Amino acid sequence: MGYNVAIDGPAGAGKSTIARLVAKEKGYVYVDTGAMYRALAVYFLEKGIAAEETEKITSAAREAEVGIRYQDGAQQVYLNGENITSKLRTEEAGNMASMISPIPEVRERLLELQRSLAREKDVIMDGRDIGTNILPNADVKIYLTASVETRAKRRYQELKEKGTSCDYKEIVKDIRERDMRDMNRETAPLRQAEDAILVDSSDMTIPEVVEMIIQLCG
Ligand code: C5P
Repeated sequence: MGYNVAIDGPAGAGKSTIARLVAKEKGYVYVDTGAMYRALAVYFLEKGIAAEETEKITSAAREAEVGIRYQDGAQQVYLNGENITSKLRTEEAGNMASMISPIPEVRERLLELQRSLAREKDVIMDGRDIGTNILPNADVKIYLTASVETRAKRRYQELKEKGTSCDYKEIVKDIRERDMRDMNRETAPLRQAEDAILVDSSDMTIPEVVEMIIQLCG
């Protein structure tokens, strides 16, 4: 078993930025589980299957093989042998991922992949149910959050820097909807594990959060 750090929290809390930096500093492998859900989302989108078509999703999920490899320390996501990493970070893929992630068969499809990575390596893994469900015995559990406004502002800034046109109010609405879905679903809802440490990054800088987590990792 590797040394396992779990970071859960809502969309836009900065989990991936923070986890990537902690991984670099501590020599852990960063595992982005949201990217795995996004990979399945891209598969369904490309097949023209809507999020509501649960039966089609359940059977299509069986044909989708998600794989993870690392290239210069960066996670690469493969879908049926094809590297689809560049297709994952769109709002469309994120929203579809959030709509299909409550489906038990979708979660089941990714569970063993996530656990096997944590067995083999020292990892910092981010997601929604890592501390509560995937790695209940993780060495360190963090629940990273920030206010809706802070998260929306960060996402707005990120999209603007990429040159993507975006509307702040739309982003706030998306984040609220995503929170609602992630926190209120029946299967593996987003919540703080009892033994997780709460970190509210609303008024913290990235280096401050990174430092705090590194201290917790011993
Ligand atoms: O973290 P990211 O925004 O990439 O995740 C996209 C969606 O995938 C989330 O909104 C959530 O619904 C789902 N997800 C999940 N469990 C995880 C990681 C992501 O349900 N461990």
